[in-house]
Amino acid sequence: MAEAYNPQNIFAKILRGEIPCKKVHETAHSLAFHDINPLSPVHVLVIPRGAYVGFDDFSAKASAEEIADYVKAIGDTARKLGVDASGYRLLSNCGADANQEVPHLHVHIFGGRPLGRMLKKDTD
Ligand code: 5GP
Repeated sequence: MAEAYNPQNIFAKILRGEIPCKKVHETAHSLAFHDINPLSPVHVLVIPRGAYVGFDDFSAKASAEEIADYVKAIGDTARKLGVDASGYRLLSNCGADANQEVPHLHVHIFGGRPLGRMLKKDTD
């Protein structure tokens, strides 16, 4: 089960306008903004406006309208960033084993260069 939502997390503060962000796209239920520490030429985070800790929480509790809005916002953001033709990677860390740092659901959009394999094998 997911931990309780902490309204003091950094993305909740961004949603409330208490901390600035470089906005890329926004909808009724979603917000996309540039990652503060980009790992690729394009590195944007897409978050739902609702209070969801991570993907597990969101997929269990969000409304059909929020889920549809969020999925569309991710695709629309990638097109807006111009990485739809070259390709991009979506990644969402969920929980401890995934090293999720910020406990508000976010999908990373990585692109702008070849991204290599998705994960190293344990034997690498
Ligand atoms: P996670 O490890 O939780 O999947 O990723 C969290 C991401 O949030 C990291 O890529 C980190 O650089 C980004 N991040 C952390 N704090 C801030 C912030 O204040 N503003 C922005 N735009 N990104 C942040």
